[in-house]
Amino acid sequence: MTPEDVLTRLERLRAMDAPTHGGHLLSYVYDSGRPDLDEVAAGAIRAMQPVNGLDPTTFRSVAVIEREVVDFARGVFHADADVTGTATSGGTESCLLAVKTARDAWRARGGQGRPRLLAPISVHAAFRKAAALFDLDLDLVGVDPDGGRADAAVLAARLGADVALAVVSAPSYPHAALDPVPDVAAACRAAGVDLHVDACIGGFALAFWPDGAPGAAATDWDFAVPGVTSLSADLHKYGYAPKGVSVLLQRGRERQRHQWFATSSWPGYPVVNATLLGSRSAGPLAAAWAIIQVLGVDGFRDLIGRTARAAAAIVAAVGRIDGLRVVGVPTGPMVAVAADETDPARRVDPHLWADAMGAHGFAVQMQPACAQPAGAGLPATAHMTVTPVTERVIDELVAAASAAADEVRGRAHLDGAALAAGLLGDQVGASAGAIDPEAAVRILEAAGLLRPEGLGAMAPVLALVEALPSPLVERLLIELLAAGLER
Ligand SMILES: *Cc1c(COP(=O)(O)O)cnc(C)c1O
Repeated sequence: MTPEDVLTRLERLRAMDAPTHGGHLLSYVYDSGRPDLDEVAAGAIRAMQPVNGLDPTTFRSVAVIEREVVDFARGVFHADADVTGTATSGGTESCLLAVKTARDAWRARGGQGRPRLLAPISVHAAFRKAAALFDLDLDLVGVDPDGGRADAAVLAARLGADVALAVVSAPSYPHAALDPVPDVAAACRAAGVDLHVDACIGGFALAFWPDGAPGAAATDWDFAVPGVTSLSADLHKYGYAPKGVSVLLQRGRERQRHQWFATSSWPGYPVVNATLLGSRSAGPLAAAWAIIQVLGVDGFRDLIGRTARAAAAIVAAVGRIDGLRVVGVPTGPMVAVAADETDPARRVDPHLWADAMGAHGFAVQMQPACAQPAGAGLPATAHMTVTPVTERVIDELVAAASAAADEVRGRAHLDGAALAAGLLGDQVGASAGAIDPEAAVRILEAAGLLRPEGLGAMAPVLALVEALPSPLVERLLIELLAAGLER
């Protein structure tokens, strides 16, 4: 094939994707609405294309760029001279490294056995991955079922010598709830426990949020708070950079050294990395660096001002829709909506509403209802991530939200248990281990999830996620994605 043919095919494949620009996809993408930023990012990536970020002594530009990006983040998050940082490939890597560092610092302080990772249930899934990969016991506590916020006293009561790290969110992804960072930090400090603030999604948004506007943080949540030992913030979210760049900041140089890995005893080149990857692209990092300089603080403020206005307009609009409610008080650029159950005849089911929003051209993410370790469970919700460009489509979005609600008002949440019984019969109780790939494919086919045209309505899928045992759902999800790669 000629390069032109290949690129033409790529263009055709890209046409299958959800739209990355224009504000109709309300998750995954962070459209600044500024083509000049996309241009400078593309130029930076092109310039760095042949470079290997593995070795900043050979590619010295990488060291300079990383230092400047980290310095910008240090300024934004009120870091003093004792805070150092690293650029990583994304939020998950930042969170993984925060946990690995804390675990090794805990061991260096004499910690023995299997440490605990203490967090509210709303903490990002990346911390579940970290606990699994680095072998920590995940100790999840419930959050306020109305707003999704962690309770500092509940977390404090579970602190102990075996806790290697506590984590809170600024704010949480599911409900945009700002956890009580100062109170948790004070308790952690008193107990000698490290505390990570996951500001992956919210960091670069909250830091530039207009003072006093709806969604602004009422308390400090970054390194201004004593007791915060690490913080993650993604530049491929509200830094508007292409995917592949985040920062992890750590308090205490000595402590931060536990993030590093070095070996000089294999027969190859001495290896020393502060991150999980070996050879790595410097492209997204350079793109973030370029965008930071083009935007400056005023540029960030302008873009977040737009985001804040759009988020406030969505919160107000949902408030006017009979049968729908906003979950809690969103802090930052996300909005979660749930059914207002006051009058069952008027309720608007968030998952049916999200599917109806899809038909109106807006992709809204569904989040399952969720049991809690203690107390009331969390309701099913629909999640919207608001970006600067949302403001341009706000009237269309508000009209769609209202029309979609009218279309599904009064309908009950789908009965996942009944769906599952129809699909699986008495196999529902089967343990995940008993399901082999073929059985999983049969179930997925019966559920209509393996059609070549892709997934249709998502509400039934979420109902199954809610009703089936997690190990079985997780097994099926793996098979669903694996099948996509194997066919
Ligand atoms: C996005 C996100 C992460 C993980 O980030 P990825 O960049 O998707 O790997 C972690 N925490 C929160 C709160 C997030 O929103």
